[in-house]
Amino acid sequence: MSRSASWTVASIRAALLAKKISARELADEYYARIDRRNSELNAYLTLSRDRAYAQADRVDAAVSCGDNLPPLAGVPIAIKDVISTRGIRTTCASKILETYVPPYDATAVGRLDAAGAVFLGKTNCDEFAMGGSNENSAYGPVRNPAAPDRVPGGSSGGSAAAVTADLAVVALGTDTGGSIRQPGSFCGVPGLMPTYGRVSRYGLVAFASSLDKIGPFANNVPDAAAVLSVIAGHDPCDSTSAALPVANYPAEIEQSVTGLRIGVPEEYFADGLDPEVKQRVEAGIALLEKLGCRRVPLKMPHTGYAIAAYYIIATAEASSNLARYDGVRYGLRVPGSTLTEMYRQTRDRGFGPEVKRRIMLGTYALSAGYYDAYYLRAQKVRALIARDFSDAFQKVDAIVTPTAPTPAFRLGEKSADPLQMYLADIYTVTGSLAGVPGISVPCGKTSAGLPVGMQIFGPHFGESRVLQVARAVEHGLH
Ligand code: GLN
Repeated sequence: MSRSASWTVASIRAALLAKKISARELADEYYARIDRRNSELNAYLTLSRDRAYAQADRVDAAVSCGDNLPPLAGVPIAIKDVISTRGIRTTCASKILETYVPPYDATAVGRLDAAGAVFLGKTNCDEFAMGGSNENSAYGPVRNPAAPDRVPGGSSGGSAAAVTADLAVVALGTDTGGSIRQPGSFCGVPGLMPTYGRVSRYGLVAFASSLDKIGPFANNVPDAAAVLSVIAGHDPCDSTSAALPVANYPAEIEQSVTGLRIGVPEEYFADGLDPEVKQRVEAGIALLEKLGCRRVPLKMPHTGYAIAAYYIIATAEASSNLARYDGVRYGLRVPGSTLTEMYRQTRDRGFGPEVKRRIMLGTYALSAGYYDAYYLRAQKVRALIARDFSDAFQKVDAIVTPTAPTPAFRLGEKSADPLQMYLADIYTVTGSLAGVPGISVPCGKTSAGLPVGMQIFGPHFGESRVLQVARAVEHGLH
């Protein structure tokens, strides 16, 4: 299915080759829609017309010369504003980087450029990717195209909304604790978090370096697979990127799921799960069984500790990563009569309340006297959670859960209570801590018409497996 979207990666390629449309006309079509809808949705923070049209012209020249077209030729893409783009403002949805223009492309961005993609612009998100509703952006919230009084999820809310509203064919997001999967679930589009190390983080503005991953949103699973094939792979600029071969994901995902063992962990279906979400995900599992998968009940006993461990590790890493915004090297500087006062004023005015909260929590967790009680203990819990996953993958090929405990909530509903917001990450942070790949794939709607997402985890570097199961669900439900 391609939902209501007008184009897919494959249909663009066919239309370009048949000369039914040019890459320039396609960019025009997307910018016209963005001009009509962005003021309402607030999905894009910056449009990059100059670069987009230069890229489109390159594709059109290749078509007219009869050259082989690269895999994403002419595909209009949106890029989350925490990923560096040469010559295009990259704010991280923060005041502190309001005027920052990176001098280089992130590796994932450079690969998309080489693959012929057309960069429409940069998308809104929670400030420095810290949040789950997009309400922490310094540039205003994003509306959920599927339900405009509701959040699109976060932190990659703008990317999810852009793809859902057909303001981009595909988009890049980032996922540290759920920021691709949860907005995918809330908006009703597939969103893939690759294995830690599958996609280079070079040029991704760091939030929590041991957890950050770049991955795609798309209107259908094959398009997400096509983007992953381009951005995945080793990069000498990121020592944590894996030197493993990259599969031809679009080809592998069409394999039959018959005979696969699907693990269903009981901890993800317990108290606090919205009954309608539960029902939709159960229906998705029943569909997989009908397709010949075997349902295997699982226990993942450390699941309940994941939120606590995640919010210590992520904030600790954030407090150290965000030390670089000191008014000297990047972006905003608020002058003061002493150096310390300049630092203080710059950080006070430049960062929003959630970012400050996390810097303080993280600094506390790392401080002498508390390090062993918090940070070290959280790392031990992380190892236990990772073991839950490795034990499970001895018995099953994939793990299926809800992506989030509820459908998209209303704008403002949780923003006054950080703890409620953190608890909404309960099903996504586990896989983040374990470093395994996970996808959210649309799995029907509630009676009020709100999208529900099914989350599928695979073993490390098992992206083909999660995409294959997601593809079966997508195919079977529509
Ligand atoms: N909601 C989670 C958080 O606030 C996840 C964010 C993310 O994945 N970038 O940290």
